[in-house]
Amino acid sequence: MESANPEKWVAGHVSTLPKSGIRDFFELVAKMKNEDVISLGVGEPDFTTPWHIREHAIYALEKGKTYYTSNLGMPELRQEISRYVSKHFSVDYRPEDQVIVTVGVSEALDLAFRAFVNPGDKVMYHQPCYVSYHPSIQLAHGEAIAVPTYAKDNFALTAEALEEAWQPGAKILMLNLPCNPTGGTCTKEQLEKIAAFAREKDLLVLSDEIYSELTFDGVHTSIASLPGMAERTIFLHGFSKAFAMTGWRIGYACGPAVLIDAMMKVHQYAMMCASIIAQEGALEALRHGEDAVARMREQYHRRRDLVVRRFNAMGLACHSPRGSFYAFPQTTGVGMDEKSFSVGLLKEEKVAVVPGTAFGHGGQGHVRACFATGYEQLIVACDRMERFIERRKN
Ligand code: PMP
Repeated sequence: MESANPEKWVAGHVSTLPKSGIRDFFELVAKMKNEDVISLGVGEPDFTTPWHIREHAIYALEKGKTYYTSNLGMPELRQEISRYVSKHFSVDYRPEDQVIVTVGVSEALDLAFRAFVNPGDKVMYHQPCYVSYHPSIQLAHGEAIAVPTYAKDNFALTAEALEEAWQPGAKILMLNLPCNPTGGTCTKEQLEKIAAFAREKDLLVLSDEIYSELTFDGVHTSIASLPGMAERTIFLHGFSKAFAMTGWRIGYACGPAVLIDAMMKVHQYAMMCASIIAQEGALEALRHGEDAVARMREQYHRRRDLVVRRFNAMGLACHSPRGSFYAFPQTTGVGMDEKSFSVGLLKEEKVAVVPGTAFGHGGQGHVRACFATGYEQLIVACDRMERFIERRKN
């Protein structure tokens, strides 16, 4: 009998899916675990979830809250989400049918792509971008259309680039502002032009605003709050970044009832509901967590100013990210491409940054440095990077 070839059971569209470039690089980092590596790699807050949130979840467990919740999420949490989104983003959503609680923004994204993409539908997204957009679109059998953003615009998405990339039949526009990995975002005026483009081309907008609380310059505007946009936008948000709750796996989506209902259909079969403990934590975060968010934002702001100043001084041209906790400096100015810079820096000076091409080819000549690391550690990391660059000059 012929020996089985398990590979043949993998679906075609999965076997052709590339592995995340970030993971490849972190396998290299993992091999160096005993060597004093400073990681500016993974996009995760160095803060532990504020104690009052953890305590509230512990009490919930003690009280025996160990059950499934409503598929859409606990009604009191949906109520708080609706209040929070109205207060901070100026969009009103009905808790009963316009809000769905998900397992992180990750699940919300997956639900949206699966609920709205027919095979072959075109989805526009700006690039460099979060590693999972392109593969998630592919998994939903959609066709991804990359729209470039540029260092010269501080990586803001422009309506001109959208016009140029647009193709007949485009159905969805995926936005992530502030953006992972560039820290780029848009002013209200730029966003108004993007909104006008979306209305003109009759696009559904998926707006991932997971870094919105971490806006350092100016105020964050949600595209959903602009005239005529709430009816064509799915607002995606969560707790991982602002509230330092990555491991809780909790997020949400808000939008027109019919669209939330479609996402809910996928969610009820795939996930049923988000974990009740995580939902309890999220409830406490929204009710009493805003001071902690402000304190963390202040820390990120200080760190941003430090790394941007140091990077530019050592020859890594770096715009000041207006939001998120990522800097996206250019390595070509010091005579290296993103791969040789990242691998060399890791091997010689034990600092991990991610090659920009992990976020799409628009990341060529850049690396992503996450500054969700303590201030003192960042100083040491910058000293090491400077040494690495100086050595090449001699
Ligand atoms: N969107 C963006 C832009 C992200 O950077 C991340 C996490 N790195 C996510 C979504 C996923 O977030 P969550 O932990 O809520 O699933």
